[in-house]
Amino acid sequence: MMSDCIFCKIVKGELPCVKVYETEKVLAFLDLNPVNQGHALVIPKEHFENLSSTTDEFLSELIVVSKKIGAAVLAATGSVAFNLTVNNGKEAGQVVAHTHFHIIPRFNGDGLRLWSGKAYAAGEMEAMGEKIKQYVEKN
Ligand code: 5GP
Ligand code: ZN
Repeated sequence: MMSDCIFCKIVKGELPCVKVYETEKVLAFLDLNPVNQGHALVIPKEHFENLSSTTDEFLSELIVVSKKIGAAVLAATGSVAFNLTVNNGKEAGQVVAHTHFHIIPRFNGDGLRLWSGKAYAAGEMEAMGEKIKQYVEKN
């Protein structure tokens, strides 16, 4: 636990939250400033700064619980689609340095814009694929 981390404080009950589900390892609650109502966060009960440093044990539970909460959020909001988003690192938009999965119910015309793609020049895609392959841990 990190004493100055707001999500650790939520886990410990030192800050309030609207809890929707919990297991021994993870907690799901509503985002204070939702993109759309029902926007939920799923977090590990242990402090990890971001997804990259979260153990596989916690990540497995996070993804399984996110699926379950996603279904519940859709049922509750009448939405038929949601984004499951992780901002991994400050440059990616992560503000709270405690791993969290966003579940954002979506509606036609709700105004949330996703990324737009940029084309590769000839050969660049294959070169990048080769480079990344070299860094993928072989288990
Ligand atoms: P990030 O940008 O780090 O991926 O997202 C952090 C999210 O946490 C934001 O969507 C923000 O609204 C939410 N948030 C920040 N502080 C609190 C809080 O104290 N309580 C709740 N429920 N959500 C919070
Ligand atoms: Zn924390």
